[in-house]
Amino acid sequence: MPYLIVSDIHGNSEALDAVLADAQGRYDRIFCLGDLVGYGADPNLVAEWARTGTAATVRGNHDRACVGSADTLEAFNPSAQLSAIWTREVLTPENREYLERLPRGPLRIVDEAANGGFDLAHGSPLDEDDYLIAPIDLRFMRPYLDTQVTFFGHTHVQGGFILSHRGVGRIDPHLVLGLEPDFCYLVNPGSVGQPRDGDPRAAYALYNPEDRTVEFRRAPYDVSKAASKILGAGLPPPLAARLFEGT
Ligand code: ZN
Repeated sequence: MPYLIVSDIHGNSEALDAVLADAQGRYDRIFCLGDLVGYGADPNLVAEWARTGTAATVRGNHDRACVGSADTLEAFNPSAQLSAIWTREVLTPENREYLERLPRGPLRIVDEAANGGFDLAHGSPLDEDDYLIAPIDLRFMRPYLDTQVTFFGHTHVQGGFILSHRGVGRIDPHLVLGLEPDFCYLVNPGSVGQPRDGDPRAAYALYNPEDRTVEFRRAPYDVSKAASKILGAGLPPPLAARLFEGT
């Protein structure tokens, strides 16, 4: 049975519900690559779901900022700062404690069906705040990869990279990815709650270790509802507007 891989939900419960409905019956465990909260209007709903709904979740930079001290906000733009401050105020004590205890990636998931296991990271396997955007960002990565497949998020762009003896190539998320024995893969399921690859639909992936495939999927959701909740909470309007564009 495949695994459901999600990332960057960002307090968007409408998008999360759409992903779970779209994938229903097709997975038996859920793994999350962080950024449960920040930007969106439902951080408590998403954190509560993650506490019981996921088999493992690594922390993202927004999870850290929304429970951490003020200096962790310095790297954020003004909209992200305002949403993090708002999220700190509305989180319940139980959800705050859960977010504080999320492990930093990479986190190894031991699994005999998956060549012994796979890793979960937020940014890159080397640094949770790194953005893996272009093949050049992975030039020196291969010696640090202990598993054939590492899942990562943070960029909110579905796809990822293939590392082979010929170099680094991009994964085409429009195709089902077949895992070849001699290659390494850094796979990004895309963002559930705030896609930035021009497609506003919620993104996720299904990883099937037995078939050795990764299927990338998109689920349409009620963007208007999520956007109006953001505006209703008094969060910065650009955080609502960008959901319609997928940017
Ligand atoms: Zn994120």
